[in-house]
Amino acid sequence: MTVSAKKVVFIHYTLTNDDGDVIDSSLGHAPLAYIHGEGNIIPGLENALAGKSVGDKLKVSIPPEEGYGLRDDGLIQAVPKAAFHGVDEILPGMQFHTETAEGGQLVTVLDVQEDSVILDGNHPMSGLTLNFDVEVTEVRDATLEELAHGHVHGEGGHHH
Ligand code: ZN
Repeated sequence: MTVSAKKVVFIHYTLTNDDGDVIDSSLGHAPLAYIHGEGNIIPGLENALAGKSVGDKLKVSIPPEEGYGLRDDGLIQAVPKAAFHGVDEILPGMQFHTETAEGGQLVTVLDVQEDSVILDGNHPMSGLTLNFDVEVTEVRDATLEELAHGHVHGEGGHHH
């Protein structure tokens, strides 16, 4: 069975930046499971995996445009400190989930000023070339329920 639309694909991966630093890895954990063709993972990685089979290993370098996007300075904004009601201390580097009209968004605190907080709405991995070392460990058909939900159930996926 090869990786194609509507298959559940299990991969072990190690992600490094251009300096060779490991950013993320599934090694030592359960493999990552995703439904191919559903946009569960970044486009560059999904495209590289198409047509692969169990046991295939690949190294792929993904530019920001096919990863988490280019950085957009328009996503940096100042928010009044009062908006952080209930947060004891706000420090640079802290991350918050916010709800916007387009859905949930992760924002990172860049700077804290007297009355305002400078937030960066760019994905933490935006602007980066992502180097993946990947092994396909399992490929199976997605269930109808998984396709309806748009995500994998069971090991490596959602439990609900
Ligand atoms: Zn579900």
